[in-house]
Amino acid sequence: MKLSKRIQTVEGSKTARFIPLLDALKRQGRPVISLAIGEPTDDTPVPVVEATKRALDRQETRYGDMAGLMALRAALAGRFEGCEPENIVVFNGSKQALYTIFQCICDPGDQVIIPVPCWVSFAEQVKLAGADPVFVPTIDHQLDLAGLAAAVTAKTKAILINSPNNPTGAVYPRETLERVARLAVDHDLVVIADEAYDFFVYDDLSHFSLYQLEAVRQRLILTRSFSKHYAMTGFRVGYAVAPADVAAAMVRLQSHLTGNVCTFAQHGAVAALAMDDELLVRRRADLQRKRDLAFEQVSAMFPCIRPQGAFYLFPDISGQLHRGETSGDFAARILEKTGVAIVPGEDFGTNGHVRICFAAPDDQLMDAFKRIREVL
Ligand code: GLU
Repeated sequence: MKLSKRIQTVEGSKTARFIPLLDALKRQGRPVISLAIGEPTDDTPVPVVEATKRALDRQETRYGDMAGLMALRAALAGRFEGCEPENIVVFNGSKQALYTIFQCICDPGDQVIIPVPCWVSFAEQVKLAGADPVFVPTIDHQLDLAGLAAAVTAKTKAILINSPNNPTGAVYPRETLERVARLAVDHDLVVIADEAYDFFVYDDLSHFSLYQLEAVRQRLILTRSFSKHYAMTGFRVGYAVAPADVAAAMVRLQSHLTGNVCTFAQHGAVAALAMDDELLVRRRADLQRKRDLAFEQVSAMFPCIRPQGAFYLFPDISGQLHRGETSGDFAARILEKTGVAIVPGEDFGTNGHVRICFAAPDDQLMDAFKRIREVL
C-alpha cells in the first residue's frame, strides 16, 4: 500500500525499537543486559499499585474527562504557583504531550530550535506537525546561547529545552535558562520545557524549572512524567502545564485521538502524588550512587562528561571506532559480542557517542562494563 508522504519521512523511535529486539534475543536464550531503554528497574511503589487495583475494584474502567481526572489535575496544579486545573492536561506519557504540543502550535514551514544531542522523538514529532527541526549543537553538553540566538529566524516558532537532559544528563543552571527566556521574549517564541527527569538531579545541584520564571510563563508549555520518578513507564501517564488556551486546544486534539488516559492508571498517579517525597529522595540517592559507579567504569574506557541529572552517560567512543564505523555499528558490535545493549549517539543527533542508561541493578552494570572492557 502506498503510505502517506508524511509517515514516509518519519522514522520509528530509536529507543523503543530496543524493547522487541531485546525480548527476541532473550527468547533465543542470549544473556542480554539492557542499558538501552531509559527506564528504572525498581518496582512501581506499592501505594500506586494498590490504588490502581482499588480503582479497578470500584469499576473505574469507563471513559473519563479527556483533560484528565480532576483529582489528578487539581493535585498537579497545586504543585505549580498560580496554576489551575485548566492549565493541566494529562496524556499517555509526556511523549504524547510533546507530540500534541507540536500539533497545536506549529504550522507547516515553522521551525523549532532543538539543542543536540537530543531525545530521539523530538525531531520526528516536529516533522509530523509539518514543521522543521533546527538543531543547535551544545558545548560540553551545555547550551550554546550564542548558537541558539543565531538560529532564530522569522520562521522560528519555538525553542525546546530538556533539562535534566536525555541523553547527556546535563542540567542547565538558572542563569542559562534566564537567558533562554529572554531570547524567547525578545523574539516572541514559545518555550517548550521537557522536564521528565526533574527530581533526578545530583550532588549539590537543584533543578531549576523554566516555570519559575514568571516572565516566560505565558509562552511556556512544560511537560513532566510519572514514568521515571515512580517507575510507572507502562502506566503511560504524563502531563503538560500550559496557558489555558493552549491546554484547551490540546484537549480538543486529545478528544479525537485517544480520549482520556486510562482511568485506573490515573488513580495510580493520584496515589503517587499523595506519597511523601521520601521514596523519591531515596531513589535519587541510589541513582547518584549508580551514576558514580557507572561514571567511574565508563570514564576508564572513554572520555565522558559527568552527568548531573537524569540516568544516562553519553561517552565519546570515537577513539574506539574501527575504520568507517559509525556509533550505530559500534553499538551493534557491542550487542553482538557482549549482549550489552546501548543506544548509538547518532540516534540523538551526535555520532561518535553512545548512550548508556545506568538505572540498572548494580550487578548488571558491573557485568556489562566488564563485558565491554573485554571486547575493547
Ligand atoms: N524516554 C526513554 C528513553 O529515552 C524511553 C523510551 C522512549 O520513549 O524513547 O529511552
